[in-house]
Amino acid sequence: METYIELGRAIPVMGTFDVVVIGGGCAGFAAAVASARCGAQTLVIERFPYFGGTATASLMANINGFRNQVEPDSIQTVKGIPAEVIRDLHELGGLGKSPYPQKEYPIEKGTLSYSYAIDTEAFKYVTLRKAVEAGVRMLFHTFFVDAIKEGNSVRGVIVENKSGRQAIFTRVVVDASGDADVAARAGAQIWQTKQSENRRLTDQLMYRIGGVSETSDIGGCKARNGVTVWGPGSFLQDGTDAEAVTRSEISARLAVWEHFQTLKARHSGMEAAYIAETPPLIGIRQTRFLRGLYSLTADDAISGRRFDDVVAISSCPIISYYGYRRFLEHEGFDIPFRCLVPCELDGLLVAGRCISSEQEPYESFRAMAPIMAIGQAAGAAAALASKSSRRVRDVEITELQSLLVEQGAELRLA
Ligand SMILES: Cc1cc2nc3c(=O)[nH]c(=O)nc-3n(C[C@H](O)[C@H](O)[C@H](O)COP(=O)(O)OP(=O)(O)OC[C@H]3O[C@@H](n4cnc5c(N)ncnc54)[C@H](O)[C@@H]3O)c2cc1C
Repeated sequence: METYIELGRAIPVMGTFDVVVIGGGCAGFAAAVASARCGAQTLVIERFPYFGGTATASLMANINGFRNQVEPDSIQTVKGIPAEVIRDLHELGGLGKSPYPQKEYPIEKGTLSYSYAIDTEAFKYVTLRKAVEAGVRMLFHTFFVDAIKEGNSVRGVIVENKSGRQAIFTRVVVDASGDADVAARAGAQIWQTKQSENRRLTDQLMYRIGGVSETSDIGGCKARNGVTVWGPGSFLQDGTDAEAVTRSEISARLAVWEHFQTLKARHSGMEAAYIAETPPLIGIRQTRFLRGLYSLTADDAISGRRFDDVVAISSCPIISYYGYRRFLEHEGFDIPFRCLVPCELDGLLVAGRCISSEQEPYESFRAMAPIMAIGQAAGAAAALASKSSRRVRDVEITELQSLLVEQGAELRLA
């Protein structure tokens, strides 16, 4: 490949913060709120002007994973900030009907069901309001482009936006980019499922349909602002390759009209239906993963392994690795703190879909309820490390767990 040597240049320093969160998806939103609630000066960098990432910018309007789907179905495994979001959405009438068959639990009694369809506009409002209330500083329309390092420590980030290129310094960066962008740029060990192995969860353009009759038999995520459906897929994409993503966007967006016509013909109550919205970004399920101090294994997920350094729990099925939706036969498996910590770098934690894991556990914890719980843990840990001037790997686990429990998280501690 032809190369060009970019010359070094002096750039303005935008500021110094205790914690900088890269990416305001479900993980990054929860991380920023948790960190700010711990009293850390927290900045979140996000390319879109709202939180949610895949939930909003890719219209993934169905949040799964608050409790196990199989009997005895007795333990709610995700609480804390993600549960607050659902309660706030409920108050605003922003919850719809999940397409997943499930036992319903009454929110009024403080319990949550497995899954909720959401009005994504209400989700944008609720999450932004929570971040403002927590005192999170936000920089939207901004891209993380590089990591600033001193030896083996990440000391800050370089971002680009309409104001140009700027440096930001911090004690801890939380990489919630979904794609492990910071970890990759900082030189942490990462891995990706090889396309040739055919194990990677494929990408899909979700879209919202308006004008659907209430009696329609169409599936999808039903909320008051329409029905969001799983639309055309893309099978040959690498979400970290800009040209590949562009090709996927083009093919999915050209296919969406035909996809809609097929739905219209197949389902009842679609006479007045129309495509109300395609999102800014095709839904990208997986790209890079961190190789951290611990990597969750298939056996951990299937056996329901517990860890002393648990910071979140996933009880969702493994969606397709086994060629079918494999339901867990236990109440959930633990996500250990070590999955968020890079092996060789300090000053960095990773949150969300790109934490250190094999393919199978990822296919469970990728659901947005556990993803937010992981984000909350990363934010609280980053704040603790920053406030105590400790390395992130030296965070006192019992102190972190107590803090998370104080913040309402479920860790099933004795
Ligand atoms: C098609 C599809 C269907 C799915 N179905 C379901 C389902 O039914 N239920 C469910 O619960 N989950 C579902 N999921 C999974 C779930 O949506 C994701 O695993 C989860 O939302 C990931 O959250 P995240 O915060 O880790 O990452 P993301 O949502 O990817 O968020 C990353 C954020 O970082 C920002 N960002 C990235 N790079 C940069 C950068 N360099 N600079 C600035 N900002 C950056 C992005 O804009 C984004 O806001 C689905 C996913 C897809 C794609």
